[in-house]
Amino acid sequence: MVARVKKNDTVVVLHGRDKGRQGTVVEVLPKKNKIIVKGCGLVTRHVKARKQGEAGGIKKQESYLNMCQVMPICSSCSKPCRVNTQVSEEGARVRMCNRCKKVF
Ligand SMILES: [Zn+2]
Repeated sequence: MVARVKKNDTVVVLHGRDKGRQGTVVEVLPKKNKIIVKGCGLVTRHVKARKQGEAGGIKKQESYLNMCQVMPICSSCSKPCRVNTQVSEEGARVRMCNRCKKVF
């Protein structure tokens, strides 16, 4: 299987509180189907100062989104796209945009 979403991809959030928001993928957990998107799924954490000089307080932090909540944006047609796979000339499976049929 080819990963539908990879690190540093730009994705669109389709469901939930951040619907319609775009962001860069910071982290992917393929086994759990979870990803972290920059600026999306923000939760408020109440942090206590653990070390000296470290400030406690209320911080906004990204939380994990479900992989199915987002769609990658194709680099050639710059629209959110469904991902298809294709076998390249070297025999590796690569991702292909289902809309413009280009590998991205
Ligand atoms: Zn495309």
